[in-house]
Amino acid sequence: AESVSEPDCLFCKIVAGQLPADMVVSTDRVVAFRDIDPKAPVHVLVVPRDHHGDVSVLASSDPALLSEMVAVADRVAGELADGQYRMIFNSGPRAGQSVFHVHGHVLAGASLGWSPA
Ligand code: 5GP
Ligand code: ZN
Repeated sequence: AESVSEPDCLFCKIVAGQLPADMVVSTDRVVAFRDIDPKAPVHVLVVPRDHHGDVSVLASSDPALLSEMVAVADRVAGELADGQYRMIFNSGPRAGQSVFHVHGHVLAGASLGWSPA
């Protein structure tokens, strides 16, 4: 099936295969590919094929899809690291969101420190 896409969205273009990405996991509704500027040994972006602007909208419009994204994060961490991971959603520009197509950052492969801001 065709995905719901936005014309000028970077991640819609990656989902459609119009831009290259280093794919790690792909399901009917979700893809996972390596971040171009990794912040950990494993840094993968988990992205729904359909365009949704941010995680709070997705959580109310399609909670099952959000749940599937977490399941894909688990698979990524199991395949590329020891199964342990941090998953981050930046929601809004002041929180660091720069691509406005929902994505979860999956960070793994190292002991991760914690700095809240
Ligand atoms: P945000 O800041 O919106 O939470 O995360 C966007 C992420 O997308 C950043 O970590 C950035 O490095 C990554 N990114 C930006 N452009 C590209 C790209 O063209 N390909 C890939 N694989 N990652 C990208
Ligand atoms: Zn999009």
